[in-house]
Amino acid sequence: MARVINFSAGPATLPLPALEYAHHEFLDHEETGMSLIEHSHRGAAYAKVHEETKALFRELLDVPDTHEVLFMQGGATGQFALVPMNLRGEGQSADYIMTGAWSDKALAEAKITGDAREAGTGKADGKYTRVPKQAELDLDPNAAYAHFTTNNTIMGTQFHEYPDSGDVPLVADMSSDILWRPIDVSKFGLIYAGAQKNLGPAGITVLILRKDLAERSPSTIPKIFRYKTILDGDSLQNTIPTFPVYMVRNVLRWVRDQGGATAMEKRNRDKAGYIYNMIDESQGFFRCPVEVESRSMMNPVFRLPTEELEKKFIADAAKAGMVGIKGHRSVGGIRTSIYNAMEPADVQKFVDFAKAFAQNNA
Ligand SMILES: *Cc1c(COP(=O)(O)O)cnc(C)c1O
Repeated sequence: MARVINFSAGPATLPLPALEYAHHEFLDHEETGMSLIEHSHRGAAYAKVHEETKALFRELLDVPDTHEVLFMQGGATGQFALVPMNLRGEGQSADYIMTGAWSDKALAEAKITGDAREAGTGKADGKYTRVPKQAELDLDPNAAYAHFTTNNTIMGTQFHEYPDSGDVPLVADMSSDILWRPIDVSKFGLIYAGAQKNLGPAGITVLILRKDLAERSPSTIPKIFRYKTILDGDSLQNTIPTFPVYMVRNVLRWVRDQGGATAMEKRNRDKAGYIYNMIDESQGFFRCPVEVESRSMMNPVFRLPTEELEKKFIADAAKAGMVGIKGHRSVGGIRTSIYNAMEPADVQKFVDFAKAFAQNNA
Protein backbone atom coordinates (compact mmCIF):
# COMPACT_ATOMS: atom_id res chain seq x y z
CA MET A 1 0.00 0.00 0.00
CA ALA A 2 1.39 3.40 -1.01
CA ARG A 3 -0.57 6.28 0.41
CA VAL A 4 -0.01 9.68 -1.21
CA ILE A 5 0.42 12.93 0.69
CA ASN A 6 -3.00 14.47 0.29
CA PHE A 7 -3.22 18.27 0.45
CA SER A 8 -6.89 18.38 -0.66
CA ALA A 9 -9.07 21.12 0.81
CA GLY A 10 -11.93 18.76 1.63
CA PRO A 11 -12.77 15.96 1.94
CA ALA A 12 -9.26 15.90 3.29
CA THR A 13 -6.59 13.63 4.67
CA LEU A 14 -7.48 11.89 7.95
CA PRO A 15 -5.21 10.49 10.68
CA LEU A 16 -4.02 7.05 9.62
CA PRO A 17 -4.73 5.52 13.09
CA ALA A 18 -8.37 6.66 12.80
CA LEU A 19 -8.71 4.97 9.41
CA GLU A 20 -6.89 1.83 10.53
CA TYR A 21 -9.08 1.49 13.59
CA ALA A 22 -12.22 1.62 11.43
CA HIS A 23 -10.67 -0.87 9.02
CA HIS A 24 -9.80 -3.26 11.83
CA GLU A 25 -13.30 -3.41 13.31
CA PHE A 26 -15.40 -2.66 10.23
CA LEU A 27 -16.88 -6.15 9.88
CA ASP A 28 -17.37 -6.84 13.57
CA HIS A 29 -17.94 -3.84 15.78
CA GLU A 30 -16.78 -4.51 19.35
CA GLU A 31 -17.64 -8.22 19.08
CA THR A 32 -21.31 -7.61 18.30
CA GLY A 33 -21.14 -9.78 15.18
CA MET A 34 -22.00 -6.94 12.83
CA SER A 35 -20.60 -3.71 11.44
CA LEU A 36 -21.39 -0.46 13.22
CA ILE A 37 -23.18 0.64 10.04
CA GLU A 38 -25.56 -2.32 10.38
CA HIS A 39 -26.53 -1.34 13.93
CA SER A 40 -29.71 0.57 14.76
CA HIS A 41 -29.10 4.24 15.46
CA ARG A 42 -31.16 3.64 18.61
CA GLY A 43 -29.24 0.57 19.78
CA ALA A 44 -26.61 0.28 22.51
CA ALA A 45 -23.61 0.00 20.16
CA TYR A 46 -24.30 3.26 18.37
CA ALA A 47 -25.43 5.00 21.58
CA LYS A 48 -21.96 4.43 22.98
CA VAL A 49 -20.34 5.98 19.89
CA HIS A 50 -22.76 8.93 19.99
CA GLU A 51 -22.09 9.69 23.66
CA GLU A 52 -18.34 9.29 23.35
CA THR A 53 -18.20 11.62 20.33
CA LYS A 54 -20.14 14.34 22.14
CA ALA A 55 -18.03 13.86 25.28
CA LEU A 56 -14.81 14.14 23.27
CA PHE A 57 -15.96 17.44 21.74
CA ARG A 58 -16.83 18.73 25.21
CA GLU A 59 -13.45 17.69 26.56
CA LEU A 60 -11.29 18.83 23.63
CA LEU A 61 -13.00 22.21 23.15
CA ASP A 62 -13.81 22.71 26.83
CA VAL A 63 -17.51 23.22 25.99
CA PRO A 64 -19.37 24.90 28.88
CA ASP A 65 -22.71 23.63 30.29
CA THR A 66 -24.52 26.48 28.55
CA HIS A 67 -23.76 24.87 25.17
CA GLU A 68 -24.68 21.54 23.55
CA VAL A 69 -23.01 19.54 20.79
CA LEU A 70 -25.44 18.68 17.97
CA PHE A 71 -25.13 16.73 14.74
CA MET A 72 -27.05 17.60 11.60
CA GLN A 73 -26.95 16.85 7.87
CA GLY A 74 -26.77 19.19 4.88
CA GLY A 75 -23.23 20.43 5.43
CA ALA A 76 -22.14 23.96 6.24
CA THR A 77 -24.19 25.02 3.22
CA GLY A 78 -27.29 23.69 4.96
CA GLN A 79 -26.43 25.92 7.90
CA PHE A 80 -26.15 28.95 5.62
CA ALA A 81 -29.92 28.50 5.18
CA LEU A 82 -30.82 27.21 8.65
CA VAL A 83 -28.97 29.78 10.78
CA PRO A 84 -31.18 32.69 9.65
CA MET A 85 -34.31 30.52 9.64
CA ASN A 86 -33.72 29.58 13.28
CA LEU A 87 -32.01 32.55 14.86
CA ARG A 88 -33.45 35.62 13.14
CA GLY A 89 -36.83 36.76 14.48
CA GLU A 90 -39.69 38.39 12.59
CA GLY A 91 -38.57 41.81 11.28
CA GLN A 92 -34.99 41.39 12.53
CA SER A 93 -31.82 41.74 10.51
CA ALA A 94 -28.59 39.71 10.73
CA ASP A 95 -24.99 40.88 10.33
CA TYR A 96 -22.45 39.19 8.05
CA ILE A 97 -18.71 39.83 8.04
CA MET A 98 -17.47 39.25 4.51
CA THR A 99 -14.20 37.40 3.97
CA GLY A 100 -14.60 35.31 0.84
CA ALA A 101 -16.62 32.83 -1.18
CA TRP A 102 -18.16 31.06 1.81
CA SER A 103 -19.32 34.23 3.56
CA ASP A 104 -20.71 35.44 0.22
CA LYS A 105 -22.79 32.28 0.01
CA ALA A 106 -23.91 32.49 3.63
CA LEU A 107 -25.12 36.07 3.16
CA ALA A 108 -26.89 35.26 -0.11
CA GLU A 109 -28.81 32.43 1.59
CA ALA A 110 -29.75 34.64 4.55
CA LYS A 111 -31.19 37.23 2.17
CA ILE A 112 -33.60 34.70 0.68
CA THR A 113 -35.58 34.45 3.90
CA GLY A 114 -35.21 37.94 5.41
CA ASP A 115 -32.99 40.92 6.12
CA ALA A 116 -29.24 40.58 6.28
CA ARG A 117 -26.47 43.12 5.81
CA GLU A 118 -22.72 43.37 5.40
CA ALA A 119 -21.10 44.41 8.67
CA GLY A 120 -17.55 44.67 7.39
CA THR A 121 -15.46 43.22 4.62
CA GLY A 122 -11.96 42.06 3.85
CA LYS A 123 -12.48 42.80 0.17
CA ALA A 124 -10.16 45.33 -1.48
CA ASP A 125 -9.62 45.83 -5.21
CA GLY A 126 -12.10 43.06 -5.84
CA LYS A 127 -10.06 40.54 -3.86
CA TYR A 128 -10.24 38.95 -0.43
CA THR A 129 -6.61 38.92 0.69
CA ARG A 130 -7.18 39.80 4.36
CA VAL A 131 -9.76 39.67 7.11
CA PRO A 132 -11.12 42.91 8.60
CA LYS A 133 -10.04 44.13 12.03
CA GLN A 134 -12.48 44.93 14.84
CA ALA A 135 -12.21 48.71 14.23
CA GLU A 136 -13.31 48.21 10.62
CA LEU A 137 -16.54 46.44 11.55
CA ASP A 138 -19.90 48.18 11.49
CA LEU A 139 -21.96 45.94 13.75
CA ASP A 140 -25.66 46.51 14.35
CA PRO A 141 -26.41 46.25 18.12
CA ASN A 142 -29.95 45.12 17.26
CA ALA A 143 -28.92 42.35 14.86
CA ALA A 144 -30.29 38.86 15.52
CA TYR A 145 -26.70 37.56 15.31
CA ALA A 146 -23.34 38.37 13.75
CA HIS A 147 -21.94 35.75 11.37
CA PHE A 148 -18.36 35.22 10.25
CA THR A 149 -16.11 32.54 8.74
CA THR A 150 -13.12 31.78 10.99
CA ASN A 151 -10.94 30.36 8.21
CA ASN A 152 -11.39 31.11 4.53
CA THR A 153 -10.56 27.83 2.89
CA ILE A 154 -10.43 29.24 -0.64
CA MET A 155 -8.72 32.58 0.04
CA GLY A 156 -6.16 31.23 2.50
CA THR A 157 -7.05 33.80 5.17
CA GLN A 158 -7.96 33.28 8.82
CA PHE A 159 -9.14 35.32 11.80
CA HIS A 160 -6.48 35.21 14.50
CA GLU A 161 -8.60 37.39 16.77
CA TYR A 162 -12.31 36.80 16.70
CA PRO A 163 -14.77 39.68 16.28
CA ASP A 164 -16.44 41.00 19.41
CA SER A 165 -20.16 41.40 18.77
CA GLY A 166 -21.09 42.48 22.29
CA ASP A 167 -24.49 41.13 23.35
CA VAL A 168 -25.34 40.02 19.82
CA PRO A 169 -24.76 36.25 19.51
CA LEU A 170 -21.67 35.47 17.49
CA VAL A 171 -22.16 32.74 14.88
CA ALA A 172 -19.09 31.13 13.30
CA ASP A 173 -18.63 28.89 10.29
CA MET A 174 -15.59 26.90 11.51
CA SER A 175 -15.77 24.26 8.78
CA SER A 176 -12.10 24.42 7.91
CA ASP A 177 -10.45 25.17 11.24
CA ILE A 178 -12.53 23.78 14.09
CA LEU A 179 -10.23 22.26 16.71
CA TRP A 180 -7.10 23.69 15.11
CA ARG A 181 -6.39 25.29 18.51
CA PRO A 182 -8.17 25.84 21.85
CA ILE A 183 -11.01 28.40 21.75
CA ASP A 184 -13.32 30.04 24.28
CA VAL A 185 -16.66 28.49 23.31
CA SER A 186 -18.56 30.73 25.75
CA LYS A 187 -17.93 33.66 23.38
CA PHE A 188 -20.07 32.03 20.67
CA GLY A 189 -23.81 31.67 20.23
CA LEU A 190 -23.28 29.02 17.58
CA ILE A 191 -20.31 27.29 15.99
CA TYR A 192 -20.92 25.03 13.01
CA ALA A 193 -18.64 22.94 10.84
CA GLY A 194 -18.96 20.41 8.05
CA ALA A 195 -16.87 17.44 9.21
CA GLN A 196 -14.91 16.81 6.02
CA LYS A 197 -11.96 19.12 6.68
CA ASN A 198 -10.73 18.90 10.23
CA LEU A 199 -13.00 16.27 11.80
CA GLY A 200 -13.74 13.27 9.62
CA PRO A 201 -15.58 12.25 6.45
CA ALA A 202 -18.34 14.17 4.66
CA GLY A 203 -21.88 13.49 5.82
CA ILE A 204 -22.21 15.11 9.21
CA THR A 205 -22.26 18.74 10.37
CA VAL A 206 -21.27 19.52 13.93
CA LEU A 207 -22.97 22.37 15.82
CA ILE A 208 -22.03 23.77 19.20
CA LEU A 209 -25.12 25.74 20.17
CA ARG A 210 -25.79 27.96 23.16
CA LYS A 211 -28.87 26.15 24.40
CA ASP A 212 -31.08 29.18 25.07
CA LEU A 213 -30.84 30.12 21.38
CA ALA A 214 -32.77 26.99 20.42
CA GLU A 215 -35.84 28.69 21.92
CA ARG A 216 -35.74 31.07 18.97
CA SER A 217 -36.59 28.34 16.41
CA PRO A 218 -39.95 29.44 15.02
CA SER A 219 -42.85 27.01 14.59
CA THR A 220 -43.28 28.35 11.05
CA ILE A 221 -40.35 26.26 9.79
CA PRO A 222 -40.56 22.47 9.40
CA LYS A 223 -39.75 20.57 12.59
CA ILE A 224 -36.77 18.74 11.16
CA PHE A 225 -35.04 22.06 10.44
CA ARG A 226 -35.50 23.51 13.93
CA TYR A 227 -32.50 23.63 16.28
CA LYS A 228 -35.01 23.07 19.08
CA THR A 229 -35.96 19.69 17.57
CA ILE A 230 -32.33 18.63 17.23
CA LEU A 231 -31.48 19.76 20.77
CA ASP A 232 -34.52 18.10 22.36
CA GLY A 233 -33.98 14.92 20.32
CA ASP A 234 -30.25 14.66 21.16
CA SER A 235 -29.62 14.71 17.36
CA LEU A 236 -31.48 11.38 17.13
CA GLN A 237 -34.90 12.67 16.05
CA ASN A 238 -34.43 10.66 12.86
CA THR A 239 -31.76 8.31 11.49
CA ILE A 240 -28.40 9.96 12.00
CA PRO A 241 -25.52 9.06 9.60
CA THR A 242 -23.93 6.68 12.10
CA PHE A 243 -20.73 5.96 10.20
CA PRO A 244 -19.59 9.59 9.80
CA VAL A 245 -20.16 10.16 13.52
CA TYR A 246 -18.16 7.01 14.28
CA MET A 247 -15.29 8.24 12.09
CA VAL A 248 -15.36 11.64 13.78
CA ARG A 249 -15.08 9.78 17.09
CA ASN A 250 -11.98 7.96 15.85
CA VAL A 251 -10.44 11.26 14.73
CA LEU A 252 -11.24 12.92 18.08
CA ARG A 253 -9.65 10.02 19.96
CA TRP A 254 -6.53 10.60 17.88
CA VAL A 255 -6.60 14.35 18.68
CA ARG A 256 -6.88 13.51 22.39
CA ASP A 257 -4.01 11.00 22.16
CA GLN A 258 -1.83 13.68 20.51
CA GLY A 259 -2.40 16.02 23.45
CA GLY A 260 -5.65 17.78 22.49
CA ALA A 261 -6.26 21.23 21.04
CA THR A 262 -3.09 22.72 22.54
CA ALA A 263 -0.94 20.09 20.84
CA MET A 264 -2.87 20.65 17.59
CA GLU A 265 -2.06 24.37 17.71
CA LYS A 266 1.68 23.75 18.05
CA ARG A 267 1.61 21.12 15.32
CA ASN A 268 -0.37 23.41 12.98
CA ARG A 269 1.76 26.49 13.61
CA ASP A 270 4.90 24.43 12.95
CA LYS A 271 3.54 23.09 9.65
CA ALA A 272 2.30 26.47 8.44
CA GLY A 273 5.66 27.95 9.48
CA TYR A 274 7.52 25.51 7.21
CA ILE A 275 5.46 26.66 4.23
CA TYR A 276 5.41 30.40 4.93
CA ASN A 277 9.16 30.37 5.60
CA MET A 278 9.70 28.60 2.31
CA ILE A 279 7.68 31.33 0.57
CA ASP A 280 9.31 34.24 2.39
CA GLU A 281 12.83 32.88 1.82
CA SER A 282 12.34 32.11 -1.88
CA GLN A 283 13.49 35.56 -3.06
CA GLY A 284 10.22 36.18 -4.81
CA PHE A 285 9.90 32.83 -6.61
CA PHE A 286 6.91 31.97 -4.39
CA ARG A 287 4.51 34.78 -3.52
CA CYS A 288 1.74 34.69 -0.94
CA PRO A 289 -1.06 37.10 -1.92
CA VAL A 290 -2.40 37.22 1.65
CA GLU A 291 -1.60 39.97 4.18
CA VAL A 292 0.83 38.55 6.77
CA GLU A 293 -1.49 38.94 9.83
CA SER A 294 -4.35 37.25 7.97
CA ARG A 295 -2.44 34.19 6.79
CA SER A 296 -4.26 30.90 7.29
CA MET A 297 -2.62 28.15 9.36
CA MET A 298 -4.85 25.63 7.57
CA ASN A 299 -4.75 26.55 3.88
CA PRO A 300 -1.58 28.44 2.88
CA VAL A 301 -1.94 29.73 -0.69
CA PHE A 302 0.80 30.99 -2.97
CA ARG A 303 1.71 31.80 -6.55
CA LEU A 304 4.67 30.97 -8.78
CA PRO A 305 6.15 33.39 -11.36
CA THR A 306 3.88 32.11 -14.17
CA GLU A 307 0.80 29.94 -14.63
CA GLU A 308 2.92 27.64 -16.80
CA LEU A 309 5.26 27.06 -13.87
CA GLU A 310 2.29 26.48 -11.58
CA LYS A 311 1.07 23.73 -13.90
CA LYS A 312 4.49 22.12 -13.95
CA PHE A 313 4.74 22.46 -10.17
CA ILE A 314 1.41 20.65 -9.69
CA ALA A 315 2.38 17.90 -12.15
CA ASP A 316 5.85 17.38 -10.64
CA ALA A 317 4.39 17.27 -7.13
CA ALA A 318 1.94 14.57 -8.23
CA LYS A 319 4.82 12.53 -9.64
CA ALA A 320 6.49 12.81 -6.24
CA GLY A 321 3.34 11.52 -4.50
CA MET A 322 1.89 14.86 -3.37
CA VAL A 323 -1.63 15.62 -4.58
CA GLY A 324 -4.44 18.14 -4.14
CA ILE A 325 -2.34 21.32 -4.30
CA LYS A 326 -4.14 23.08 -7.15
CA GLY A 327 -5.73 26.33 -5.92
CA HIS A 328 -9.49 26.75 -6.06
CA ARG A 329 -10.64 27.46 -9.63
CA SER A 330 -11.92 30.91 -8.60
CA VAL A 331 -8.46 32.15 -7.48
CA GLY A 332 -5.90 29.89 -9.20
CA GLY A 333 -2.38 29.33 -7.90
CA ILE A 334 -1.36 26.74 -5.32
CA ARG A 335 -3.17 25.82 -2.10
CA THR A 336 -1.73 23.45 0.47
CA SER A 337 -4.39 22.32 2.93
CA ILE A 338 -2.60 21.22 6.07
CA TYR A 339 -5.39 20.41 8.53
CA ASN A 340 -4.82 18.76 11.92
CA ALA A 341 -4.29 15.30 10.39
CA MET A 342 -1.50 16.37 8.01
CA GLU A 343 1.80 15.05 9.31
CA PRO A 344 4.56 17.64 9.90
CA ALA A 345 7.10 15.31 8.24
CA ASP A 346 4.95 15.26 5.10
CA VAL A 347 4.86 19.05 5.00
CA GLN A 348 8.66 18.99 5.30
CA LYS A 349 8.82 16.66 2.32
CA PHE A 350 6.67 19.06 0.34
CA VAL A 351 8.85 22.02 1.30
CA ASP A 352 11.99 20.13 0.24
CA PHE A 353 10.33 19.37 -3.08
CA ALA A 354 9.24 23.02 -3.54
CA LYS A 355 12.71 24.39 -2.73
CA ALA A 356 14.32 22.05 -5.25
CA PHE A 357 11.70 23.06 -7.81
CA ALA A 358 12.47 26.75 -7.25
CA GLN A 359 16.17 26.13 -7.66
CA ASN A 360 15.70 24.21 -10.91
CA ASN A 361 13.17 26.62 -12.43
CA ALA A 362 14.23 30.09 -11.24
C1 LIG B 1 -16.04 23.54 2.76
C2 LIG B 1 -16.66 24.74 3.38
C3 LIG B 1 -18.04 24.98 3.34
C4 LIG B 1 -18.99 24.09 2.56
O1 LIG B 1 -19.22 22.93 3.25
P1 LIG B 1 -20.33 21.85 2.77
O2 LIG B 1 -20.28 20.88 3.89
O3 LIG B 1 -19.88 21.33 1.46
O4 LIG B 1 -21.63 22.56 2.68
C5 LIG B 1 -18.53 26.08 3.99
N1 LIG B 1 -17.72 26.91 4.68
C6 LIG B 1 -16.40 26.72 4.75
C7 LIG B 1 -15.55 27.66 5.52
C8 LIG B 1 -15.82 25.62 4.11
O5 LIG B 1 -14.50 25.43 4.18
